[in-house]
Amino acid sequence: MRHIDPDVLALLALGENAGTESDRGHLAACADCRSELENLAHAAAVGRSTLDAGELLQPDERVWRSIQAEVAAPAPVVTLRPRIARRLLAVAAAVVVLVGGVGVTLWALQPAPVTLLASATLDAFPAWVGSTGSAVVEQTAAGARFVDVTFQAPATKGGFREVWLISSDTSQLVSLGVVRGDTGRFTIPDGLDLTRYDLVDISEEPIDGNPEHSGDSILRGQLRSAA
Ligand SMILES: [Zn+2]
Repeated sequence: MRHIDPDVLALLALGENAGTESDRGHLAACADCRSELENLAHAAAVGRSTLDAGELLQPDERVWRSIQAEVAAPAPVVTLRPRIARRLLAVAAAVVVLVGGVGVTLWALQPAPVTLLASATLDAFPAWVGSTGSAVVEQTAAGARFVDVTFQAPATKGGFREVWLISSDTSQLVSLGVVRGDTGRFTIPDGLDLTRYDLVDISEEPIDGNPEHSGDSILRGQLRSAA
């Protein structure tokens, strides 16, 4: 009888969908393979349980040693045939690769450094008394600018909210887009002069196909440079 390939067992122990139909049939019938799979799964679970978020952010020698120690701890409990011992090491190595991968992924997901350019407190218009909001303008290292708005305003039916940048004299305006819920991030068009378009406005818009500002502003505030 041919037993299940060690690599397949190691993958199954890590929760991967590995192996063929005949592997699964064999596993159901072979106590040896089931026992080895249990050992491997235990080693993998122990390896994973030693990790917490702090360690994930810093995959280093300390994590390595912790996993080695934990895998070594349960290892003497079972009577290891050399083949199983090799598989445990393979699983430990696989766990380390997973940990390293997660750590690198989390590292890559860290937000890139941004510079705060300006911020604004948004004040409610008379028809929207009690509404509050704020906006911050930030710039990425690559030069892209965006504005984050956060606000609270009474819910309405059948319309939507739109975010605008309006010139100081209110003669010109640029739509940044529709905001859903009570927060949103919008890209500021390259070249738009924020010393001229320095008013952040959130409006209530009816669904009427008219792309212009409805005239029904909920909140508005003037950007102040952070410098
Ligand atoms: Zn077997």
